[in-house]
Amino acid sequence: MRIMIVGAGIGGTILANRLARLLAPELQRGEVDVVVLSASPRHLYQPGLLHLALGQTTVDALYRDQRTLLDPRIALLIDEVVAFAPDSKQVRGASGNAYSYDWLVIATGSRVTPEEVPGLAENAHGFYTEAAALRLAQALQAFDGGRVVVTTGVPHKCPMAPLELTFLLQDLFVRRGIAPRVDLLYTYPIGRLHSIEAVAEWARIEFARRGVRSATYFNIASVDGATRTVHSEEGLSVDYDLLIAIPPHRGAEAIERSGLGPRGWVPTHRRLLSMQGRDDVFVLGDTTNLPVSKAGSTARFQAEVIAANLASRVRGGGDTHGYDGKVLCFIETSRDRATYAAFNYAEPPRPHAPSRAMHMAKTFYHRLYWSSLRGFP
Ligand SMILES: Cc1cc2nc3c(=O)[nH]c(=O)nc-3n(C[C@H](O)[C@H](O)[C@H](O)COP(=O)(O)OP(=O)(O)OC[C@H]3O[C@@H](n4cnc5c(N)ncnc54)[C@H](O)[C@@H]3O)c2cc1C
Repeated sequence: MRIMIVGAGIGGTILANRLARLLAPELQRGEVDVVVLSASPRHLYQPGLLHLALGQTTVDALYRDQRTLLDPRIALLIDEVVAFAPDSKQVRGASGNAYSYDWLVIATGSRVTPEEVPGLAENAHGFYTEAAALRLAQALQAFDGGRVVVTTGVPHKCPMAPLELTFLLQDLFVRRGIAPRVDLLYTYPIGRLHSIEAVAEWARIEFARRGVRSATYFNIASVDGATRTVHSEEGLSVDYDLLIAIPPHRGAEAIERSGLGPRGWVPTHRRLLSMQGRDDVFVLGDTTNLPVSKAGSTARFQAEVIAANLASRVRGGGDTHGYDGKVLCFIETSRDRATYAAFNYAEPPRPHAPSRAMHMAKTFYHRLYWSSLRGFP
């Protein structure tokens, strides 16, 4: 029996290592094998991209060799999946190889698609890829005042990133002594500052306290680099000196190409995390179409559910666990303060006032990233 996990990001890696422990006897006896198939031999610590853009870390600190993060009992193959064929229980790689499985887990994450908005890729800075974060770091170093516009496309991963970026920019400008010369404007696509109401209300008070301006109902329509103007679908036009965008996202191209889900989001059972209409395919992390935040913590909690249910199935049992929509996100509000939001399908978050203690908790949590992929703690 083969369990194939496509994608070795946070979700795929945690799931594989958990399966290695849960299925130790079956792996030992050769009754099951767990194969991770991933496009990249390197693992990127994505939250670090924000700190790379702010000049607080280096590129080398963000990467590890994927093989070193996986239990030795897990096979790792490097190949980009170009097609999923669930009816024949196969996936096809860019190498031309076809891979068969008994159970498949799709954990291919999400990708930014700035090209969907005219002018965005050419004129906006960002921090969702290594190259964009490095360019933004340079631009911020050279920046000496003017209007900074932070704008967000939907859906996007890391629900707190637009707020965190805005808070950390404001903190940076204060520390550099240029805050009086900076007009910081945060825009958001819906009628409040965040998709989660409690977070939006908390952010409204924080913005007022810090003098950060905002514009809601702002869906980016286009960017004109010649006049340095960003236009919204709602008809608002804003001039900028520095534009920083979180572009809209889509799921993996192979998912769209294979017709598994519009825009690459796979229709997913909200509790069992199986692909709708298929009992042998699970969906993990960013690539689900569930109404939960696309975040590393989401992928982590979902991996625990899928691992338990797959282990049970290998032994001939039924599904024993269900995902309750749990998400935990820290929110950095300055270089030395943070808060957090914890929520699930039923319970909204209640963010508290930022504190140094929470900043230390976040720093500690992030330092543990690599060992937590292996299952510790
Ligand atoms: C700047 C930034 C800051 C963030 N901060 C936080 C934070 O503070 N807290 C938090 O919880 N989350 C944060 N996130 C979000 C978090 O990183 C993602 O939500 C999380 O990584 C999703 O996990 P995943 O396993 O679904 O996908 P990913 O971790 O993105 O992994 C996808 C994997 O699939 C592979 N892959 C993709 N396509 C294919 C293919 N066709 N064939 C084979 N392999 C493929 C990739 O190589 C990769 O290994 C942040 C993200 C960014 C960009």
